[in-house]
This record gives sequence, structure tokens and C-alpha cells, in this order.
Amino acid sequence: MVQGQPVDAARVAAALSGRSVVLVGMMGAGKTSVGKRLAARLGLPFVDADAEIEAGAQLTVPEIFERFGEPYFRDGERKVIARLLNGGPMVLATGGGAFMSQKTRENISAHGVSIWLNPDLEVLLTRVRKKANRPLLKTADPEQTLRRLLEERSPVYALADFTVDSHDGPHEAVVEMVLRCLDKSLCKPDRTVSPPPRKVQVPLGARAYSILIGPGVIDEAGVEIAGIAPDAACAIVTDTNVAPLYLDLLTASLAKAGLRSTSVVCPAGETTKSYAEFARVCDALIEARIERRDIVIALGGGVIGDLAGFCAASLRRGVRLVQVPTTLLAQVDSSVGGKTGVNSPHGKNLVGAFHQPSLVFADLNVLDSLSERELRAGYAEVVKYGLIGDRKFFEFLEANWREVFSGGPARAEAVATSCETKARVIVADETEQGERALLNLGHTFSHAFERLTHYDSELLAHGEGVAVGMAAAFRFSRDLALCPGQDAVRVEAHLKAVGLPTRIRDIPELKASPADVIAAMRQDKKVDRGRLTLILAKGIGDSFVARAVDEASLSNFLARELAL
Ligand code: NAD
Repeated sequence: MVQGQPVDAARVAAALSGRSVVLVGMMGAGKTSVGKRLAARLGLPFVDADAEIEAGAQLTVPEIFERFGEPYFRDGERKVIARLLNGGPMVLATGGGAFMSQKTRENISAHGVSIWLNPDLEVLLTRVRKKANRPLLKTADPEQTLRRLLEERSPVYALADFTVDSHDGPHEAVVEMVLRCLDKSLCKPDRTVSPPPRKVQVPLGARAYSILIGPGVIDEAGVEIAGIAPDAACAIVTDTNVAPLYLDLLTASLAKAGLRSTSVVCPAGETTKSYAEFARVCDALIEARIERRDIVIALGGGVIGDLAGFCAASLRRGVRLVQVPTTLLAQVDSSVGGKTGVNSPHGKNLVGAFHQPSLVFADLNVLDSLSERELRAGYAEVVKYGLIGDRKFFEFLEANWREVFSGGPARAEAVATSCETKARVIVADETEQGERALLNLGHTFSHAFERLTHYDSELLAHGEGVAVGMAAAFRFSRDLALCPGQDAVRVEAHLKAVGLPTRIRDIPELKASPADVIAAMRQDKKVDRGRLTLILAKGIGDSFVARAVDEASLSNFLARELAL
């Protein structure tokens, strides 16, 4: 049920700036009824593509199917939709199969905003039972046919710009949901009024801590830190990219709360997670007289979080750590959970310690200065939380990913849900004896791809490797008949929609045989006495730890993947 004030439709119409709203989805989804009402609210004309086709052909859709067949109909449908979209802004309802055409999808995205109306299957069945004029349902078992069509088409519908999961309610309520979704995504959020920060707790007994999530939470860091360490000295560890952007802001926040601080600036990039930099930062902290009751603050992405965290764990056998993650990856993953460390010449993250932070500040505004590529790479880890155990969250991301990128309430929701999931997993298994391994979905594949591209993040950022790895884990699960094929397609479709790679062939300069990939996978920390452990899936939101994976099956799978 839609709650709150009705959406200002005039504001949404203005934000559409000449684009059409195109409704897609199954027969019976309510595209015509919702479309008419939506058009009236937006002050736009309403056009039903099927009605246009029928008027042009002087035949009904079932008659066209019967006389000329489906391919003929689809061809005509594609041309009619292209013509209509060229004719200016409107609300356009399309037939159930129209969106399956890639050309039509391209046309829609050039001229409009697509919305998948996605009611429950039961609602579809009830509505479709009432009308006997659907040509594709003239089969012995129309209900079974509808189920099959829905399974086949859902991954493609999911490529629409937005998804509205409409249940059985009045059409006006669905119209309001569509408007709300357009309003949230197209109309700029009012950043002058910041919502209160969200607080996620990590209840680890004596080592419990809070994660504060929200736009501008760096401003509150000083007061919060003073609350746990009233007269501590703070040492901020950061990197050369982040320092000019946010170091002054954090220093000012600490000063306002009466805390003095110094800073150590490291070169930006993965090479900073080295023995040499570890020693240099530790010495700088000792010179700054950071003692047992003082605080080390990591201000930066995962590299700074891991390095500063390991320094804090080691300095005087452990000083308190505060994480101020500035990349999406660091906010949803590396800053929470206490894994710290550096790389060895033998491999990544081979030397480190578990050292939980005392506070985490995920300031959502700092993500605005990240490059699109960095943001996308971090987003792969967000998707991971949906895939391992939360199908609803995955569906939320399918519908709201644009706002996660542009910054609005969906960004806060995505970061908070990710942190909640990570916190839950950590509390159940802090040192990765069991369930925590689920967080490695896609990572064993990814570590192999990263190794084979010599850890060159220009070729393959970690999050991009995770995206390919997660898509591969789902395809492998499908090939082993563990997971429905539609789920594998859907995962791939979503990652692709946000611009992430999903196939091994998408990785530049990766030339390897199946044996090379398996050998590289063996270097992963997750290898257990020579047996490969992978995270596989029974479906979206239902991943599991697969121990002693059959190498012949994996090799055959990789041969197929590499041949593509
Ligand atoms: P990163 O720290 O190298 O940051 C990526 C780039 O973005 C860097 O150039 C950085 O200077 C820059 N940057 C950071 N914040 C910025 C901002 N707000 N605006 C503009 N530029 C900004 O990389 P990352 O992707 O954040 O983290 C990757 C590291 O995290 C890897 O070393 C990985 O092993 C580690 N990691 C650790 C854990 C864990 O549990 N400890 C989990 C996942 C990953």
C-alpha cells in the first residue's frame, strides 16, 4: 500500500523532460488501466501499442497471430513502437512480448523511461482467466503456459529502468507507486535537509560497535569519538586522493569536539598495502605519541582501512580503530568485520589480524566524488548481499539501483542493508569458521581473474572481478542443476544493466586455460587441504558453501566459459 502524501505529478512530468513513460510486463499486468490513469496525472497522451497495431492492420491481435504468425506480428509491433516513440512524450502501454526485442528495448531507452509492472502470479492468473483473447494462452494448460512465459520473460523485464511490484489493489495505488518511483529517481533529492543517520549495531559483546550511515556523518564523528574516548589523541591515516577532499572536514569535526589530531598520508593504490608502508605508518604513529588509550582513524577506501587497521592492531599490541570508509566497497564491506592486513609478495592479504573497529562512519556524501567505475565496482559487493541470502534486497536493487548511484534514500537503504547483513554474518561467525565464508560469493573466481591479470586494477578492479565471479558461480550452479537457469540469467542481466562485466571474455587481456584458472583459484585462502571450496547457489538469495568441488565439472564449465 502506498503511504504518505500523493506525489507531485507535475514535478515528475517536468523531470521527464520530453521522455515517454513506457509500461512493460506480462499480459494482465494492468498496463492499459494503469497507463490511462498515469497519463491523466502526468498530463500526457496515452497510447496502447496493441490498439495502434490493430487499428493499422484492421485486424485484432489474435487474428494477426492466426493469419500471419507470431514473427510477423513481432516485426510489425517493433516498427509501430519505434514510430510511436518518435512521436513525442506519452505514456505507452506495450504488449507482453514487445520488450523481448532488443531493438525495441534500445528504442525505448533512447526515447523514454521503462517501467516493469510486476504483479503477483496469482493476480495475473485471475486477470487473465477473465479474458479469453490472449493468443499465446490458447494452449491445453493456459496457467502453466503463463507461468512458463513469466519465468522466461522476467529476466528481460528486469532490464527495465524501474520495477513496480504491484499487488492486487486499485489501479490508482499502482499509479501512485509508479509516480513515487519516478519521483525518487528523476527528481533531485533535497540535500539541504539531511535525513537522520541510520545506526547499525554490531553486537560483539565487549567489542560491540555502531556503524553510522548517512549524508554528512563525518560532521558528527568528533562528538561520537569524544563520547567513547573523551581526551584521546587521534591519528588519521589517509591517502593522497582522499586527503585533499575530506581530511580538513574530519580534522575540523574532531577539533569541534575538543580532540587533537595528526595525520599520515599514504600513496593511493593497492601497493600501499605493503610491509614497507606498514612499517612507515607504525613509526609515524609512534612518533605522534599514539598510545594505548588513543585512536587511529582510517579515512579512505579498503586499502587504507586494511593498512591502518593492521597498524592499529599491531601498535602497542592494539589501539582503538575508527573506520571512516570513503568508497562504496569500504562502506559495505571492508570497514565492517575487523579483517585487516597487508599483501605479501606471495599474494594478497596474506598477513593480517582480526581487529574490530570501535566506530564506523559511512558518510554517503563522500561517494559523490568517486569515479563511476569505482562506484560500480563497490556496487558488486552490495549485490552480493542480495544474492547470498536476501532475494527481496536483490529485487529492491533491480528496481532502485539508479538511485543508489545518484544518491538518495535508496543509497542509504542499500548501504544500511548491506552493513546489517555483514554484521549478522560476523556476529554468527567472527573468524570465518563457517557461515562467514558466504561473503566470498564470486571471490574465489575473482581472485583467480585478478591474479591472472597481475592485479592490474586498470584491467580489472576487484569489484568487477567479483561481478564476473558471481555471474560465473550462478552459471556453474545452473550447470550443476543446483539453481534455476532463470536466476542465473537474472543475476547476469542486473549486473550488466549497471555496467558491470559478467563474462570471463569481458576481462581485457585475460588469456588462460581452464587449468590456469583452477591453478589460480587454488592460491586462494579458501582452499582447504588442496580441496577447492566455492560459494554456489540454489537460487537468488540462497547461496551455500560447497566444499570439495568436483574439479572435472569445474574444468568443463571453465572450458565452455573460455570458449565463449
Ligand atoms: P582503494 O582504497 O584503493 O580506493 C579506490 C580508489 O579510490 C583509490 O584511488 C582511492 O584513493 C580513491 N578514493 C577513495 N575514496 C574516494 C572518494 N570518496 N572520492 C574519490 N576518490 C576516492 O580501494 P577499495 O576498492 O576501496 O578497496 C580495495 C581494498 O579493500 C583491497 O585491498 C581489498 O583487499 C580490500 N578489502 C578488504 C576487505 C576486508 O574485509 N578487510 C573486504 C573487501 C576488500
